[in-house]
Amino acid sequence: MKALVYLGPASMEYREVPDLDEKDGEVIVEVASCGICGSDMHGWHGTDPRRVPPLVMGHEAAGWIRTGKRAGERVVINPQLACMRCDRCLAGQPHLCGSKDSVGLPPRSGAFADFVRVPERNAIPIPDDMDFATAALTEPVAVAYRAVGLIERLHSRPIAAQRGLVIGGGAIGLAAALILRARNVPDVLLAGTNARRREAALAAGLTQVFDPRGKLPADGSVDFVIDSVGSRPSRELASRAVRFGGVIAHLGLAPGNEGLDVRRITLGEIIFTGVFCYTWLDFKETIALLDRGGLGPLTWVRERPMREGRDAFAAIGEGTTPAVKIVLCNE
Ligand SMILES: [Zn+2]
Ligand SMILES: [Zn+2]
Repeated sequence: MKALVYLGPASMEYREVPDLDEKDGEVIVEVASCGICGSDMHGWHGTDPRRVPPLVMGHEAAGWIRTGKRAGERVVINPQLACMRCDRCLAGQPHLCGSKDSVGLPPRSGAFADFVRVPERNAIPIPDDMDFATAALTEPVAVAYRAVGLIERLHSRPIAAQRGLVIGGGAIGLAAALILRARNVPDVLLAGTNARRREAALAAGLTQVFDPRGKLPADGSVDFVIDSVGSRPSRELASRAVRFGGVIAHLGLAPGNEGLDVRRITLGEIIFTGVFCYTWLDFKETIALLDRGGLGPLTWVRERPMREGRDAFAAIGEGTTPAVKIVLCNE
């Protein structure tokens, strides 16, 4: 089969690789679409120690099951392979499992390929009329969906009466802002340093989009913050902008820990929570959200052929694409 093989920083080749063997309890999925994730970009830049070349990356995938009893089913892949036996898994939090593998991280080959093999339960049916490029958005959108869900749970007041700040104009930040809009949050602010992505956010219908290197919201002026960047400047902004008694949901994984104003968090009883991936229910509800068009027109998504994957990675790496999310598609 053909696959897009990551060979080292800024190096990738679309080439022939050995076919996958069948394995008990697992299914082989013919990949139709697979999105390029920010974490794949960390691999491309050589800043992710987990992504060791040569490696087929890719975990935001949808396609057809081609083996076993469910052959022919259209599915999206939940790339988190948890043990389903430990206390966290039994508590319905498999995303916090301590012995978890992931599709597209060694030793698991990913979905930038003709086929990918996953445990059968990780191949989740999608509606008949849902196109594969949309289905491939499930994984990143589920992260944003969980962040919004945690904010709703942790806040003392309904978010539909509130002012929220999302930091980061990438796919997860943009999806979070669009989910907030869909939940009737009256004021949704989106901060992003990338001008093309700010344009894409405006085109997607958001109105309060700004460059955080310019004029900032007043201190204590937002009820909650979703920080999808996780850098020193983003944590500084989150710490300052949130009001006393507010909530910060932190899901960015940029290197470093600085920037959080722990004193202000203490004095203001500000709730700070990490957000990591999603539960199975978040994932399922995200499929339904995408199926009913809950994010509005997906003008910020671009499809490109899998064989041009190297160019797509380079374009994202160099910041020359207007797309917020590129989905690679097999023809
Ligand atoms: Zn991802
Ligand atoms: Zn577990």
